[in-house]
Amino acid sequence: MSRRSRRRTPAARSGSSPAWERRYRERWRWDRVGWGSHCVDCYPTNCPFRVYVRDGLVAREEQSGSFRTIEQGVPDMNPAGCQKGASWSQLLDGQERVLYPLKRAGERGEGKWQRVSWDQALTEIADAMLDAIQDAGPESIMRVGSPGEGGTQSIILAGAVMNRLGGTVTDIQAEINDFNPGLYITFGKFDPVASVDDWFHSELLITWANNPVFSAIPWYHYATEARYNGAELVTIGPDYSPSAIHTDCFVPVRIGSDAALALSICQVLVEEGLVDRPFVQDQTDLPFLVRTDTRRFLRASDVEEGGREDQFYVYDARAGRIVEAPRGTLALNGVDPALEGTYRSRLADGSEVEVTPVFALLRQRLEAYRPEEASKVCGVSPEVIRLLARKIARRKTRILLGWTTGKSYHGDLMERAICLVLALSGNWGSKGTGTRSWAVGMFDGMFLFSAKPAPGQEATAQVVAAQRAMLEAAKAADPGSTDEIAIAELGYAGARMGGMIAPALFWYYHCGYREVWNRPEWNDPAMPRPFDAYVQEALSSEWWVGSDQLPEGKPPRVLFEIGGNLLRRQRGGQNMLLRYLWPKLRLIVSMDWRMSTTGLYSDFVLPAAQHYEKVNFCYTSPHVMNLTLSDRVVPPAGESKSEWEFSLMLARKVEERAKARGLLEYQNRAGMTIRLDGLYDAITMNGAYADEDRVMDEMVRDSVVAGTLPEGTTLETMREKGHVRFTDWGVSPMALAQASDLKPDETHSPFRWHTEKKMPFPTLTRRAQFYIDHAWFLEAGEELPVHKEAPSLGGDYPLAITGGHPRWSVNSMNMTNWVILNTHRGRPFVMVNPQDAEARGIENGETVRVYNDVSSMDIEAKVSPTVRPGQVIIYNGWEPYQFRRWSDTSNVEPGMVKWLHLAGGYGHLRYRAMHWQPIPIDRAIRVEMAKVG
Ligand code: SF4
Repeated sequence: MSRRSRRRTPAARSGSSPAWERRYRERWRWDRVGWGSHCVDCYPTNCPFRVYVRDGLVAREEQSGSFRTIEQGVPDMNPAGCQKGASWSQLLDGQERVLYPLKRAGERGEGKWQRVSWDQALTEIADAMLDAIQDAGPESIMRVGSPGEGGTQSIILAGAVMNRLGGTVTDIQAEINDFNPGLYITFGKFDPVASVDDWFHSELLITWANNPVFSAIPWYHYATEARYNGAELVTIGPDYSPSAIHTDCFVPVRIGSDAALALSICQVLVEEGLVDRPFVQDQTDLPFLVRTDTRRFLRASDVEEGGREDQFYVYDARAGRIVEAPRGTLALNGVDPALEGTYRSRLADGSEVEVTPVFALLRQRLEAYRPEEASKVCGVSPEVIRLLARKIARRKTRILLGWTTGKSYHGDLMERAICLVLALSGNWGSKGTGTRSWAVGMFDGMFLFSAKPAPGQEATAQVVAAQRAMLEAAKAADPGSTDEIAIAELGYAGARMGGMIAPALFWYYHCGYREVWNRPEWNDPAMPRPFDAYVQEALSSEWWVGSDQLPEGKPPRVLFEIGGNLLRRQRGGQNMLLRYLWPKLRLIVSMDWRMSTTGLYSDFVLPAAQHYEKVNFCYTSPHVMNLTLSDRVVPPAGESKSEWEFSLMLARKVEERAKARGLLEYQNRAGMTIRLDGLYDAITMNGAYADEDRVMDEMVRDSVVAGTLPEGTTLETMREKGHVRFTDWGVSPMALAQASDLKPDETHSPFRWHTEKKMPFPTLTRRAQFYIDHAWFLEAGEELPVHKEAPSLGGDYPLAITGGHPRWSVNSMNMTNWVILNTHRGRPFVMVNPQDAEARGIENGETVRVYNDVSSMDIEAKVSPTVRPGQVIIYNGWEPYQFRRWSDTSNVEPGMVKWLHLAGGYGHLRYRAMHWQPIPIDRAIRVEMAKVG
């Protein structure tokens, strides 16, 4: 009997009750209940579910409703969940489920497969890995940083062998593109995240470039509850989105002009005297003095021999002289920094220069954004701009920023301008204020587990002590440092040593992007030099050392995609990867519980246990503040394995095959000796970690030692309660970046250490930095936020594609779930304005070809007046194989990056894992469409 039919077989009939009653009773019969969740990229994830098991199979799941009230007067988080989660069990035996190891039997992508044993698959994979090590070095074994299952523990553990061998891992951040570069440029971190219940404290909640009704289903209730609490809701976006429908005020902004709107709001704040002057003085670099001759900050290195490059100055209006800006604190200690005026400063050589505060330069720049002028650019009426500015100035304002800005060509400028709105109005570092992005962290056990020299918590305590000592040493070396800054600095060093790379150079050399990125018409027309000139300067300046381990002429040989779907995700899609990268790869391995498009183009597809079939923890986020267990409530189906089991089997096999060919050790690029005999023992700590439950239990206990989970928490207690609230931040960079005390009975709003304790930011200037005097930023005219029109990515065509997370899937997971398919058209669609449709003779439901200079795709038209003329919306997540020719949206995206994001060597503008780096653009791609037969 098949899994599907067994699960749906009615129980034995009893008595004479009617059929409907029997069916109803049947639904409420189960043998066991476990805790489950869906540790995927449905950020912020972590919905605790009860999973009901009957006859050894999952019968159904439901939201647990088990969160307690955190802060009196603030609604709890119940009942967290969404429709995908409520039908997740359908995927256990969906048609795309992979149950056995499969080996390609025809050409890649031809769809011909041969079922093989695990032993055969592992043998051939291990041999290919050893060939790669011997022929091209271990870095030619590549694992793409798969976000498909959200960077969960099991996926991280799956990389154990590749990491140990010295392989290459691409940075998850660049793979998923959920990076807000403008937030990073401003704050030295991109990840301020309030807990979702803190939305309740906002008086003005602005959804900007975001659609939380689709993308934050479990948490959107806080927006409506904030409204009951008196908050006003505003949506800023180009289309009348499902989120716009529910707000008090919809502000339709022309696509790509958000910076002009934000800067116009800033102009009104300045013009009408609404600026929070004390906030600006101590939180930002706006009082810092800039030399008018060089347009660079006045530095100690200018005014004295041997002075610091990172010591800056303000003009103290009270003392009437130029004084050093404090570095180790934001506190002004009696100094009253001027925001206006010009002053004279003596330099080390005895000459004098004119200097002026950044704020004065900003005021000049904002002149171009008077509402009447900005309105012509952004399409928002001057009255609305003024109204918005006055509301923001007077209310506790939170801007719920999405990731659309970061995926736009000049999204960094949009985000810097939005941060400026918050700065001028004093809107961060208190409840109900600030902006948002994403952050993980807090589950320190996950990191400690792999850093420990031995099993057990004694070893954990030693590692924690060593980490703390390292932090203290780093802080002692720089009195202007803090935990957060020291961790960020240590992170830079770590990124250089590890196998993780910012993949921009890999794409550039090996995936065909060099040619695309050098096309002048797809770059900022104001870019003064060719793209390659910036690449060469970045390389010769050694800004990306460590990320260049696969240089030109040295492509990867073996590629693993574990839990993700590279051929759907990559901007430029199959166009680039199948054409340029695939022919260079000797072996492509996909491990997944379902057959994805990437799997279809792989050489081996290995069956992974699904979410209810393995022990896992959802990746943790300050949004929710909980560690959430997703347990093994049923055994893995068929021959599927958890990623940890796979890792251990692979370790054994690599060791066995290495011994057979006499390859016992080699040196990696850093000169370290890697031994292959004893690989399994090294990974399992001599067998202690052979059991998956032990590994997860160890991580939980390690977190207790690190102080981030309550005393007594174990895997066993997690199995009783399902989730537990974190007690502290620990030492992971994204957790410390929150910079607020974590309290057991309060909602969390980030940056309170900056406003209340006056702790500096991890930027070059130690302030929220709006002026970037890096030579490239000056060259680009982007030293201050400015509006720039995006280039015509894809060619000179009249329509611009926007999109975002769909309501119906998590990435491409659930796009084939039959329950979810029945809640929409069941196939990919493009939303188009009726005027645009009529002009092209397109009727609702007809198939259209969307095309540009890059490629084309065929898709169903959904004609809707919610879309503005000139815009087309294609929500992401569709599997390429759901399209004709398997040609999906990513195929019409050129995959451009903004050259400025290759800048480095400047304070916080340098690579560290999951932070500053170029990410590909996919918003506002230019296309045309026409009806096809
Ligand atoms: Fe929650 Fe994500 Fe599961 Fe939906 S899919 S119920 S958002 S964890």
